Amino acid sequence: MQILRLNRRQMLAASVTSSAALCWSYRLPAAENVEPLSFIIVSDTHLGRNDNESALRNWRTAIDEINQLPGNFVLHLGDVVDSGRESQYPIYASARELLTKPIYEIPGNHDPADLFSKHVAERPDRSIDEGGVRFVLFNNARRDSHDGFITAEQHQWIARQCEEAAGENLKIVVCCHVPIHTNKHPDRAWFVKPANGQTEFYETLRRHNDRLLACFHGHFHNGIRGWRDHGSTVEVLCPSVCYNQNRGLKDRIAAGEADGFFVDELRPGFVLAELGRGRLTLRYKPIGEEENGQYAADWNGASVENANAGT
Ligand SMILES: [Zn+2]
Repeated sequence: MQILRLNRRQMLAASVTSSAALCWSYRLPAAENVEPLSFIIVSDTHLGRNDNESALRNWRTAIDEINQLPGNFVLHLGDVVDSGRESQYPIYASARELLTKPIYEIPGNHDPADLFSKHVAERPDRSIDEGGVRFVLFNNARRDSHDGFITAEQHQWIARQCEEAAGENLKIVVCCHVPIHTNKHPDRAWFVKPANGQTEFYETLRRHNDRLLACFHGHFHNGIRGWRDHGSTVEVLCPSVCYNQNRGLKDRIAAGEADGFFVDELRPGFVLAELGRGRLTLRYKPIGEEENGQYAADWNGASVENANAGT
């Protein structure tokens, strides 16, 4: 692997010229009549991790880059701070003020619900209409579990959101921190178990399959990972801005030991998403000029050549 040291301008330029190698794109017939909409997805900033400032440095670098990139708004898929550290929320808020795009966060299992409501967003369960799409955001994480939970009240609210969207001819994207999709080793095996709301959610999904384009999640720190086996809806886990871990997914999927898709890139980063004209395209953007050289690889090198996935 060739190690490169690029300044920020070069890095951003590289991201444009070689992004195809770090790009996942899927046909989404239900998005045929949606005008292209571009937005950014960040996740798992984990401010305060290891009681040092490296997570904050990553978040600030990401903000700098996001301000220079296309995208109308930013989704943050949870774990704003690490292990509920309250002192980190004002630090997050002051960095966030530097963003020149609107940002919509949901809590993760590291975010205590009361602190999230106090410092980030008063009501975590809410929806945002952008372009022809309703983004349905809700909290399915709990501090005492890595699994996800969708309550009966939330099911009713989600179903109502879907029905309203149908009435207004909007497509739907669902965002919650913990994946709903069943998974097992080499993935984390953390998800919304059938007894905790998975079954009801998929019933709603089935009723709105022509409309529900995608579910976005964080939580796994696995880069871009996902599945499309519930109708045409894609379920995608998004990378952490703070750190990602190698779960051997590239080899396991190639060997038939794991299903779904994976983009072979694990540097701390975020996602540039484009949705519309029948496609969802996700580009992995590793952040900044890396202080730690082991992350800075040649984007055109063999290590990322097989990263194209989906058609
Ligand atoms: Zn998490």
